[in-house]
Amino acid sequence: TVPLDLDFFRRFLDRATRVIVAESAYLTDLDAAIGDADHGANLKRGFTSAAEAVAAEPPATPGALLTAVGVHLTNTVGGASGPLYGTVLRRMGKVLGEDPVVEPETLGRALGAAVASVRRLGDSAPGDKTMVDALQPAADAYTAALPQGVVAALDAAARAAREGAGATVPLQARRGRASYLGERSIGHQDPGATSSAMLVTALYEATDP
Ligand code: ADP
Ligand code: MG
Ligand code: MG
Repeated sequence: TVPLDLDFFRRFLDRATRVIVAESAYLTDLDAAIGDADHGANLKRGFTSAAEAVAAEPPATPGALLTAVGVHLTNTVGGASGPLYGTVLRRMGKVLGEDPVVEPETLGRALGAAVASVRRLGDSAPGDKTMVDALQPAADAYTAALPQGVVAALDAAARAAREGAGATVPLQARRGRASYLGERSIGHQDPGATSSAMLVTALYEATDP
């Protein structure tokens, strides 16, 4: 098994930034169908800028790293997803506190608290065709699989997030810009659920040093 230490969360940020940059055009295409065609560009700007900021001024603990990234995303992403992802990372950072090595149970509590804070801020629930449709199943799957160990739990979380993102296709959007389209939002995968699945997958991949 792998320690959830600062190196683990650095690998997460590294992989998250890489996948967001690589898939930026795809995420923007998804947003072109049911939004305003900026999701990939928004996140690319936010993650590259956050990665630069923490490289320039390296945080000392996992909690401080996630908090710094969250503050940065809120300030640089713009769009609905900026404050929402900013909240996810800041809330996780707060739950992790100052622990140099995070207990797997604590990561589970952090994921659960992060999803709850997005739901509160976005007034959104599973089924609304948002990032919550990937993040809620991921947090739930992590907790359910944790008895099998943290690697299995993160693997289960990543799978659940990807499934949840795919399952947004037939849904009608009830929150965010896509909701303005009404029934015309049906038949398209939600961009935010898609990027969330990529981020949870990056968290799983950080288990492989
Ligand atoms: P904007 O819609 O402002 O251009 P983005 O394109 O960056 O912002 O992000 C859009 C994504 O944000 C959506 O695909 C959806 O997943 C997520 N989102 C939007 N509004 C909400 C909300 N109220 N609650 C949860 N997620 C939301
Ligand atoms: Mg958009
Ligand atoms: Mg926008």
